[in-house]
Amino acid sequence: MADTQLMPIPGQVDPVPVARDITPRADGRIDLMGLPKARIRELFLEAGMDDKQAKLRSKQVYHWLYHRGVTDFEAMTDIAKTMRPWLAERFVVGRPNVVEAQHSTDGTRKWLLATDDGHEFEMVFIPDADRGTLCVSSQVGCTLNCRFCHTGTMKLVRNLTPGEIVGQVMLARDALGEWPKGKMDFADLSDDDGANESEYRADGRLLTNIVMMGMGEPLYNFDNVRNALRLVMDGEGLALSKRRITLSTSGVVPMMDRCGEEIGVNLAVSLHAVTKDIRDEIVPINKKYGIEELLQACADYPGASNARRITFEYVMLRDKNDTDEHAHELVRLLKQYDLPAKVNLIPFNPWPGAAYECSTPERIRAFSNIIFEAGISAPVRTPRGRDIDAACGQLKTAAQKKSRAERDREAAAAEATAE
Ligand code: SAH
Ligand code: SF4
Repeated sequence: MADTQLMPIPGQVDPVPVARDITPRADGRIDLMGLPKARIRELFLEAGMDDKQAKLRSKQVYHWLYHRGVTDFEAMTDIAKTMRPWLAERFVVGRPNVVEAQHSTDGTRKWLLATDDGHEFEMVFIPDADRGTLCVSSQVGCTLNCRFCHTGTMKLVRNLTPGEIVGQVMLARDALGEWPKGKMDFADLSDDDGANESEYRADGRLLTNIVMMGMGEPLYNFDNVRNALRLVMDGEGLALSKRRITLSTSGVVPMMDRCGEEIGVNLAVSLHAVTKDIRDEIVPINKKYGIEELLQACADYPGASNARRITFEYVMLRDKNDTDEHAHELVRLLKQYDLPAKVNLIPFNPWPGAAYECSTPERIRAFSNIIFEAGISAPVRTPRGRDIDAACGQLKTAAQKKSRAERDREAAAAEATAE
């Protein structure tokens, strides 16, 4: 791939190809999408603007880009008419390319997107009565091979850039027609208590929440995910409160502290099993960072409290992780580490060739009751968008599928490096 370079990722067996910060297009213009204000200013200076102009114009362009969703310099009305063509000659404001858009019978929408260099990934929008959640991807594919996850069977992996990550949110706002028309609101929402969300409160707006639960392991693409979410949380940018954003990790322990410190969003952890044997099998990263280490990192997660609980995701796999004993052990562990926790039980979503089945509804109910009785919330997540393969774990683009033998080999290699 001409536009990528190899970059080591913490805890990673193989380096993941990472797209460069800036990939000039064939016509030489630079895509500003995903860049912070300071970087836009630098680029304006490099292109020949004087200091004062660069400062003012970068502020204006940043506002049009992220707060108003404008992609055409001509529409940036407070920028001098003569300046607009100058900008358009040198820069563009991109979006991921839409390959296909699908609608589920339950209202869920899925978009198949492509990067400029042709890698496909997916994003899903899940409307509910009181909220609308956008499920955002962080990588093309995933290196982690969780046994029940379709994304984990994808061979091709590349980290998405900040522009490709924030671009998903921009596209969703485009599709839903949700850019504010009015004046800019400079309120800094990055540290508020939710009371200050003047522009982006739930009422009337469809897209209210973001979950980093699409394709990929966000903490294996930490810098890009952080930089993208900073644009999303910035009051001068997309202005979505960090309280409305949740990042899900399979348990990349060394990055969890930085996630709390540098991003500060809600944390969800894909626990899925309470014994070493079972978690080693279904979430192979467990061989590297075990359950105790993971739960300790959760107990230390900056910002977690009873008001901001950590979500533990638990996929219900028939005859694998769904007994009463497992539920009791889950409660014991959460109490032992004194975790401000809620549990999200996810009925397993099937995909062709999966080695597991979903637990029966009665089993899921019984499992949930045990946790509830211990005073911990344990709702069952209703599967959404199954008919268009948009539900948790069903995302997989046409990029090559790994063979079973390849997956076994990789799992063995991961095990060897973990020891
Ligand atoms: N890589 C991150 C985030 C993406 S996956 C992570 O693993 O946490 C989002 C959630 O869907 C995770 O909890 C994941 O374990 C779960 N999931 C994956 N495959 C699934 C499937 N087939 N059925 C139900 N949930 C699944
Ligand atoms: Fe990757 Fe998450 Fe799927 Fe595991 S569950 S393979 S970490 S996307």
